[in-house]
Parts: sequence; structure tokens; C-alpha cells
Amino acid sequence: MTNIGILGAGQLGRMLALAGYPLGHRFRFLDPASDSPAGLLADHLALGYTDKSALEQFAEGLDVVTYEFENVPVEAARHLEKFVPVYPPSLALEKAQDRFVEKSFFQELGIPTPKFTIDLNSSFSFPAVLKTRRMGYDGKGQSIVHSQAEVAAEKAVDCILEEFVSFDRELSIIAVRNKSGETKFYPLIENHHRDGILRLSLVIGNVSAELQKQAEEYATRVMSALNYVGVLTIEFFEKDGQLLANEMAPRVHNSGHWTIEGAITSQFENQVRAVCDAPLGSTNPLGVCAMVNLVGTLPDETSILKIEGAHLHLYDKAPRPKRKLGHITLVEKDVATLNEKLDEIRKLYAEF
Ligand code: AMP
Repeated sequence: MTNIGILGAGQLGRMLALAGYPLGHRFRFLDPASDSPAGLLADHLALGYTDKSALEQFAEGLDVVTYEFENVPVEAARHLEKFVPVYPPSLALEKAQDRFVEKSFFQELGIPTPKFTIDLNSSFSFPAVLKTRRMGYDGKGQSIVHSQAEVAAEKAVDCILEEFVSFDRELSIIAVRNKSGETKFYPLIENHHRDGILRLSLVIGNVSAELQKQAEEYATRVMSALNYVGVLTIEFFEKDGQLLANEMAPRVHNSGHWTIEGAITSQFENQVRAVCDAPLGSTNPLGVCAMVNLVGTLPDETSILKIEGAHLHLYDKAPRPKRKLGHITLVEKDVATLNEKLDEIRKLYAEF
């Protein structure tokens, strides 16, 4: 039994605890929001991340600390490290919290990225994407710009300008490494976004072995450079058969929710295993898989449950525009059946 502390008590924390309980572990959450999805199923300290005495109170009796979101203040992770091991290492947070630092890090490791600059007055090819360096997620804090004049009009501070990539598709790799250095990878996931928010993830065997190898090689470089422990996600654009890294998340990821029912071991269980330095579980898929995100509104629950093989996950969050409220997973033997089931879901929920 390991006492695991998690910074952040959202749906990712909730799914981490749900995966860790069968292994006999105990969980405690730190999250300033008092009504968090994970707070209902474990000890929850509703205090701030920058409050040192709260961090110490949280760390008391814990064997290991991990986190479910990458905007945990680096200082909080550093302070906790004085009392208890924190995985992934705080250096991973530092690299992932700032888009410029992150893309520069990819470059140093020889991982291709879209062209980027933080010199907003430099000549750049348009269209381009203007993004805040920090705290942007789900398309928040970014806009498409078509000229230098538009960039100037945005009066942007602390932003990064990126080449707009007319990609063929978006893919993500989910990797996991335990403290002993054992490493495993899930198959590349094809992701579909709308308004910058993930709507649909597919694992349907439509990715070449070369691309998979390339993504694994890139993830290995990142994990080695950071002496990484835990689950790591890298999001890529695929363009003309090449991968361009867009961003990384030092945590379990929305595009990996299909692994709960669709892989031998879920990303959540593997995160728990990794930070406890247990052997990692198989990442092999159990069929062709799809994950539909429930964003902003929810479909009729009973109708979804009537679809054979549809696994409904609700995060116990109040509906609000653009808010991730739950997801549905499908695991089928073949793509034709998977598509039929997706069509059934689409009739009840057209949001993806
Ligand atoms: P991000 O917050 O960087 O993950 O961006 C959210 C989504 O916006 C991505 O998943 C893409 O669909 C789109 N996007 C972000 N950056 C670019 C880019 N440089 N070129 C084209 N689309 C982008």
C-alpha cells in the first residue's frame, strides 16, 4: 500500500484514484476548489498550492506525490520535494509550462516543431498562430493572425508566434516510465479537435510502424533528458508523413482516456505503477477504440447506456460551455462496427 498525494482534484485525479484503489493504494488530493471531481472519493485538502504550510500538511504521511495538471506552480513541487518524492520531476513542469521553453527544449533534443518566435516584430510567414506562452490550454489564449499589423493590433504580451501548420492530422503519443527506467508506449492516437478542444480520439490501426517508431524515439529523448518518472504525453501534427511536436503534458492525458477499457492497462494505472516504481502493465490495445468527449452539454444518459459496448464516464461536474464533463469509450473488433457505434452516439450527441 502506498499513500499517494495528487496535486489537482479534477477528473484526471479522479480517474487516477479509481485506477489505484484496486492496487490497494490510498489517495489524498490538494486542490483549492472545494467541489472538485476527485474530492468526493478521497481525502481532499482545499487549500492553495502556494501556501507552504498547506503543502506541508498535505505531504504529512505521504509516500509519493504526483500531479494531474501541468500548471502546478513549480515552487510548490520544489517545496514538496523536500519532504516526499515528487514525480514527474519538477523540471518537467518547468519545461511544459512555457510554450517557448517547451519548443526550444524540443529543438535542443532534435525533435521537429512548427517554426516559432517570441520576437513579435520579426518578419514571419502568415497565417500564424499567436499563443500566450503560459496557462493556455484547450485553445484558450490563442488566435490566428494573418499579418504583422494583426499581430501588432493584438498588443500581445508574453506570447509566442507559431507557423500555422495545415496538418494532415493530429496524433499523440502516451509514454510511461517507472523509477527503474522501464518504459512503455501506447499506440499513436488520432485526435480531432473543434474550437481547440479535443472531441474525438481514435486508435484504429491507421498509423504506420515508422511513425510509431519516430514518436517513441522522440518521447524517449524527452524522458531521458528529464530523468522522467510517470506518464508523458506529446501532441504532434502529422504533415507529409513527418511529425512536428506541438506540446507535451507531463501527466495522463485526455487523448488516453480510451485506455481505461481499451488497453490491457490504462494510462491511469500505469501512472500509479510508475510513481510507485512497480512493474508497468501492458499498453497493448484490446481492439479498435474511440473516445468521444462530452463537452459543455451531456447527452441523455439512459440512451447512451442502451448502446451496447458504450462505456459512459461522468465527472460529476456542472454543465458549462466548453467544459469537459465526461467521455464515452468504445472498444470494438473492427472499424466498421466502431463507426456504426459512433453513428449511434452522434444521433444522440452531435458535438463531436
Ligand atoms: P494547443 O493549445 O497548442 O494544443 O492548440 C490547440 C489546438 O489548436 C491544436 O490541437 C490544433 O488543433 C490547433 N493548433 C495549435 N497550434 C497550431 C498551429 N501552429 N497550426 C495549426 N493549428 C494549430
